[in-house]
Amino acid sequence: MENLSNIWQEAADHLLQTLPEAKKQWIKRISFESEENGAMVLSLSSNFYKETTEKNCRADIENTVSEIAGHDIQIVFTVNTAKKATAKTIQKTVKKEKTEPVSKNTTLNKQYSFDNFISGDNSSFAFNACKVIAQNPGTSFNPCLIYGGVGLGKTHLLESIGNYIDEHNPKMKIIYTTAESFTNEFIDSLLSKEKISSFKAKYRSVDVLLIDDIHFLQKKDSTQEELFHTFNELYDSHKQIVLTCDRPITELTDITDRLKTRFRKGLNVDLQPPAYETRMAIAMQKCREKGYEIDQKVLEYICQNVNTNVRDLEGALTTLSSFATLVGKPVTLDIAKEQLKNFIVSPAIKNSDISIDMIIHSTAAYFNVKEYDIRGKSRNKNITLARHISIYLASELTSYSLSEIGKMMNGKDHTTIMYSVEKIKSILDTDDSVRQAVNTIKSELLQS
Ligand code: ADP
Ligand code: MG
Repeated sequence: MENLSNIWQEAADHLLQTLPEAKKQWIKRISFESEENGAMVLSLSSNFYKETTEKNCRADIENTVSEIAGHDIQIVFTVNTAKKATAKTIQKTVKKEKTEPVSKNTTLNKQYSFDNFISGDNSSFAFNACKVIAQNPGTSFNPCLIYGGVGLGKTHLLESIGNYIDEHNPKMKIIYTTAESFTNEFIDSLLSKEKISSFKAKYRSVDVLLIDDIHFLQKKDSTQEELFHTFNELYDSHKQIVLTCDRPITELTDITDRLKTRFRKGLNVDLQPPAYETRMAIAMQKCREKGYEIDQKVLEYICQNVNTNVRDLEGALTTLSSFATLVGKPVTLDIAKEQLKNFIVSPAIKNSDISIDMIIHSTAAYFNVKEYDIRGKSRNKNITLARHISIYLASELTSYSLSEIGKMMNGKDHTTIMYSVEKIKSILDTDDSVRQAVNTIKSELLQS
């Protein structure tokens, strides 16, 4: 029989070489525990480590271990404070994992539900619409498009719809996928006639189709064509379709008009960054959910300052909670200020890690235009807007002076730069699509 301990050693070495720094710290804490009924049991020294490792690294570990073994290997995480779990506890863990009901709709991630989504001023309309859809799939708001910047809860709501329907209408066939996976699967299917017909059959036979991040379909002409036909077939037979996108449909470029028209049918709802009170409610619920103990004053500090999106808010909570566990004492306000430097960007504290090149790169990707056009002189409406936004973000996120920004934008003068900054400032509050673009690009830059 294969030696799972050796396989784990090899997998750990590989993961420590390839994973980002943030994940490596969790891998280092894992010990190989035993092999139970073909499953690999790995242990961590506390429940917190176990949960965090499971959440952040399970997929990486499973993929690597199965790759090395040449077949699927089930991974079971356990807590072993003395680094030696008794056979009994392991047996229990293995059994528990095995007897958990497995939904037939395996593409859904069970951690997302309406119950653990905090609806606030920024999201109540989207939240309520999603609930109505989940309660009456295919009859109200079909299709529905949820749009908004990164980390605002699009995936959470989309998966919640799937999980709710799965629970209340177990006979319904639900597929959750990302536009990227849909594209890859479609490309794979082109290899043979059988594959293409089973691909078509799979997507055209569902009751509920949930596709995340459809902005990925820009420039993917054949995939758009395939989705167009899938969409029509499902729509005509009153099957529910829900999509998410990082911007309003009108802002998508290189997507055929007929597909855009389909996406715009039904209901389009947006998610905005949450206000302070909603951030507090979300932070408190995340602490309850994950067992973090963070002082109220520190929570207030976090929520006043981490205002980009919910993913950053979660990241800040995890960082502080991990820190508290590592040093073995509660986090004070001073420690929080020190630890959260990376999450907090205010105009006064500019982020030296963000360069003008990065801003132009992200803005060009968002508007689907060329980077050299942003630096250049084209008067095309889309390019001019992308240029104004790049300059505005450079003035907001970097510490360069307006003249320095001008130099880095192919020698534009100070007044041109000032004009762009003022232009965006003047429309930011009134123009939804500009605000959406600025928020999305900004969040992406801050995350990277
Ligand atoms: P998006 O898909 O818009 O980039 P996600 O749905 O992945 O964002 O959300 C990022 C993280 O924030 C997830 O862990 C999600 O559970 C959490 N989250 C986002 N919005 C909320 C909310 N309103 N209440 C609770 N958790 C939220
Ligand atoms: Mg998402």
